[in-house]
Amino acid sequence: MISAVVCAAGKGLRAGFSRNKLLEEYENIPVIVRTVSAFDLDEIGEIVVSVSEEDERDMKKLLSPLSKVRLVRGGETRSESVCRAVKECRGEIVLVHDGARPFVSRKIILDCIDSVKTYGSGVCCLPATDTTVICEKGEYTAAPERESVFTVQTPQGFYREKLLLAFEKAKGKSYTDEGSLYFAQISPPRLFLGERRNRKLTFAEDFQTGERVGFGVDTHAFGGDRKYIMLGGVSVPSERGLVAHSDGDVLLHALMDALLSAAALRDIGYYFPDSDEKYRGADSSRLLETVLSLLREGGFAPDQVSVSVLAEKPRLSPYIEKIRENLSRLLEIPADRIGVAAGTNEKLGYVGEGKGITVYCYCRIRQA
Ligand code: MG
Repeated sequence: MISAVVCAAGKGLRAGFSRNKLLEEYENIPVIVRTVSAFDLDEIGEIVVSVSEEDERDMKKLLSPLSKVRLVRGGETRSESVCRAVKECRGEIVLVHDGARPFVSRKIILDCIDSVKTYGSGVCCLPATDTTVICEKGEYTAAPERESVFTVQTPQGFYREKLLLAFEKAKGKSYTDEGSLYFAQISPPRLFLGERRNRKLTFAEDFQTGERVGFGVDTHAFGGDRKYIMLGGVSVPSERGLVAHSDGDVLLHALMDALLSAAALRDIGYYFPDSDEKYRGADSSRLLETVLSLLREGGFAPDQVSVSVLAEKPRLSPYIEKIRENLSRLLEIPADRIGVAAGTNEKLGYVGEGKGITVYCYCRIRQA
């Protein structure tokens, strides 16, 4: 059997909450629930969660609906807490994981198990992206080649007996992770490649999801000989077309402005000026691609879109599903995150008189 140990006995106060950060929510779900749930796999036989006396009641309440979970009281240091939890484990292999890494994937967990089975240990790591130096008293003492520097994450897997032996040999000395303990007391552990998303929630800003909202509006007047209008990249038959420098896709224009606004960028008039011949008759779907790459540069991706079209005619209901599907394709988000509504203006104003179409768009983007 394989056991997982989740370390949750720390104080987790660097995040600046008044209690252990693991009890706080990330996108409406407590961090500890997210982390423990990630290990609820067929391959894992039990999940032992190390908790402090102070948090035990809250942790029990949050974790009791989950299966395979047992709580064990932690100690004064990380090593003491993990050692106590490992002693409670029944698995031949134990994976130790930080409670503050809720985004651990099934792939990472399975790779960790494979590494233990193949090499006797498995420590999740990432290649360093920054250059790291060793220093003392403010001066470099060593500057290792970046290619040989890795940052170490969890899970870290070991055979239980070997890990217990490492704790015994350490005689109470505490380590910041079990890989370091194992390295000092048994042998160099084996690394395996993790994923960037398996990040640790340490500071308050780590709990911010990077969600942002944006709003955009566009209006185009009817005119010209075209017998269709473009809406969300879909051609809709119409008595008259829309007057525009580009293809006049009033929906995509509102959407682009909403996306740009959410990312605190300039509006589409700035990026695609209608004084520029380059954009004459431009396919707005292509312009949207540019907008999405601007978003990506800022580290954002669309998450949800809500559109409202005000038009007296043409009748849009037969095209709504097609528009949603096309937006889903263009934005690379599921159609169930895209809402498109269409209505008339009850014959009032320029929309009601059939002079033009106005589209309102609201969107949510998030850190990609
Ligand atoms: Mg426009």
